[in-house]
Amino acid sequence: MKMDLAIRNGFIFDGAGNPAVKTDIGIRDGYIVRIGRIGETEAERTIDAKGLAVCPGFIDMHNHVDNGVLAFPSVESYIMQGVTTSVTGNCGASMAPLDDESMELSRRYLAPFVPSSERIDWKWRTNAEYMKTIEANGTAQNLAFLVGQGTLRIAVKGFSPSAADDCEMSRMKSLLRNALDDGCFGLSSGLIYPPGSFTEERELLELAGELARCGALYATHLRNEGNFLAESVAEAIEIGRRWNIPVQLSHHKAVGRPNWGKIHHTLRMMEEARREGVDVCCDAYPYTAASTTVTSLLPPFALEGGVEATLQRLRNSNERFRMAEEIRSKGCEWENWISGAGMENIYIGDCARRPEVEGKHLQEIVAAYYSGREMLEGLFDFLAEVECLAKMIVFAIDENDVKAVLAHPLSCVASDSWAS
Ligand SMILES: [Zn+2]
Repeated sequence: MKMDLAIRNGFIFDGAGNPAVKTDIGIRDGYIVRIGRIGETEAERTIDAKGLAVCPGFIDMHNHVDNGVLAFPSVESYIMQGVTTSVTGNCGASMAPLDDESMELSRRYLAPFVPSSERIDWKWRTNAEYMKTIEANGTAQNLAFLVGQGTLRIAVKGFSPSAADDCEMSRMKSLLRNALDDGCFGLSSGLIYPPGSFTEERELLELAGELARCGALYATHLRNEGNFLAESVAEAIEIGRRWNIPVQLSHHKAVGRPNWGKIHHTLRMMEEARREGVDVCCDAYPYTAASTTVTSLLPPFALEGGVEATLQRLRNSNERFRMAEEIRSKGCEWENWISGAGMENIYIGDCARRPEVEGKHLQEIVAAYYSGREMLEGLFDFLAEVECLAKMIVFAIDENDVKAVLAHPLSCVASDSWAS
């Protein structure tokens, strides 16, 4: 029987790490039916792949295409690069489950990860409903969904920084159980972002117990990728060890010049843990800059209670004094981007409220638009003015570290991007 398609003369990479083989691939009814020489007349259609690589679609282990796939179902920014599968719902932020009462808080929480949110209707509540919404809208990609621990916590506790009590704990566990039953692949945490940053290890451990039921994945944006990188890796490994579940360290890196090179130690920690039977891996993006929301510039206390509370603090001189003190203090336990990278290495990526600051670093912005203000005072003025609705790009990673992580057999490449 004639094949539908022959891809001829390409270098075939099978995706298992084997060397490329120069040969042909024959396809019938959507399945590969032959790998080997195929004659000119044996297929209806032929693609000549001479000089090109032929391989299975790439899996992006860590991105935020969650709602992008609703706004742009053809996800061309991925498909055109050969990425046919995305693992989404990362860094503690998933689009479900949502709760009527905390809906507005959830939307504010998800805003930095959800460009083009005006195009979507937010009618789903459960993960199954969310998946159905995507299916009805169409998608050019295969998607594996994680449940965001931050999303879960907001549905139960809003932005309250207090530890979860027994009742709250059991509600979060039941939401997670339902999401896993709906087909989610695991739980993600984003432990620098409130409310993930309010979450103690004990609470994470208890939640992760639900994953053990079905061997689901725990993916984590570590509590600290700077001064306390090793301690944060240890916390993640401990969760995998306790429940015998796979652990994925998200976008693994060492942030801030004083921490460059620590990655060699954490890769060794992963190797050792694996020797002891813990299934731990990591992903890494091939950039020397990180990108996140500008609220991450502020100390954790400034983020308690959600964005409205943060904006009030930014307008209050006593609170500003306290924030500045914490940002300047040496050896702080939170991830301090300003002390780790310097304001001259922190650029504003997008800011719809003041597009003229896009592409400029924080020192330039203060000098140009808040002249005469002390640097941090100028920064607080800016954050208050744009209501923290801006994303930043921080050049804080060593290229040698990026190369070391990407070359390590326990890591895989990820984009940490969204569709546009
Ligand atoms: Zn992250």
